[in-house]
Amino acid sequence: MGLNSWESELQALRASGLGRKLVPMEGSAGVTITRNGKRLLNFSSNDYLGSANHPRLREAATVALKKYGTGSGAARLICGNLKVHEELESATARFKGTEAALSFSSGYATALGVIPAVVGKGDTVILDKLSHACLIDGARLSGATVRVFPHGDLNYLEKLLQKSEGKRLIVTESIFSMDGDAAPLKELVTLKERYGAWLMVDEAHATGIFGKRHAGCAEAAGLSNRIELQMGTYSKALGSAGGYVAGSRTLIDYLVHRARSFIYSTGPSPVVAAASLAAIQWLGTEEGRARVKKLWENVRSFEKLSGFRSASPIFPIPMGGEVRALEAAKELEESGILAVAIRYPTVPRGKARLRVTLTAAHEKAQIKLLSNALRRS
Ligand SMILES: *Cc1c(COP(=O)(O)O)cnc(C)c1O
Repeated sequence: MGLNSWESELQALRASGLGRKLVPMEGSAGVTITRNGKRLLNFSSNDYLGSANHPRLREAATVALKKYGTGSGAARLICGNLKVHEELESATARFKGTEAALSFSSGYATALGVIPAVVGKGDTVILDKLSHACLIDGARLSGATVRVFPHGDLNYLEKLLQKSEGKRLIVTESIFSMDGDAAPLKELVTLKERYGAWLMVDEAHATGIFGKRHAGCAEAAGLSNRIELQMGTYSKALGSAGGYVAGSRTLIDYLVHRARSFIYSTGPSPVVAAASLAAIQWLGTEEGRARVKKLWENVRSFEKLSGFRSASPIFPIPMGGEVRALEAAKELEESGILAVAIRYPTVPRGKARLRVTLTAAHEKAQIKLLSNALRRS
């Protein structure tokens, strides 16, 4: 009976343009990738600096592999804390301009651990409507009352703050993953301070890209020491994997006692932690800085060629219907370009889009190809 209803639900999803499939990919996910045996120009990656294959990260991972082996053996409170975890966390704190940081096996696990640790029953979590699934899930899991404000609507947020009870935690992304726009961080900080609320900012798509040291939007706005919880991942511009939260020493000590996805989960692989650490160090080198500069040059040149605008390397190309978005993605694929269709439930129904991301690894000629192909589709 279960099988029948799963099967009929799957058929309904596929019929309405919401079917999903894992497509076999050969080799690694660089600027050109081979999917289903076909070579494509990749405009769907979050590897914004093209660092996932950088020799410096590979080397650090290899050294850690030889030194520690592949796994960290147990949760970090059980056997002990590897030096590479400690080094990664102090580097992350310095990078983010905070007293301390804690790393998790993924960004998703970070949100699921952190939000329920800091709020619970009787408290209120207030989320921007476009917040990532892990933030929504973390909020629900916390048992706190969950409230949502329309994307970027500070007046609505203020009304919620006036009406809400218990500890109040405002949650937002700094650069929104599917829309590419920026949250009004300054105004959010002013508001949360006025109402004595806490602010948690997910910098998944800003880390490595924004700010003088490329630490993210909080650094760029000079707000690092006024945001209680700065979270993010090592998996996007940093080309590695794992998540982190950065904040005060007290917060981090508290999370070590309370964040269940930290306490009851095996420590991140030392190989991966070493690559994340190398990525942060690499960002501070001349080459790292040049990569970020190249990324922004590519963003500007795509804007000029295509007429689209974005505050980030993420460009949502609106398509409306799910079926239309799939067709457009298929057309692009036929001309050798990968720009994946993003559909419900990742974005609201009827707001399907192609999500194009630029990286530092793209060449001008490739960006031209993309712009021309988009004009035709
Ligand atoms: C990707 C992403 C995450 C999850 O990070 P992972 O390390 O991939 O689990 C969290 N928040 C946002 C906004 C993201 O885009």
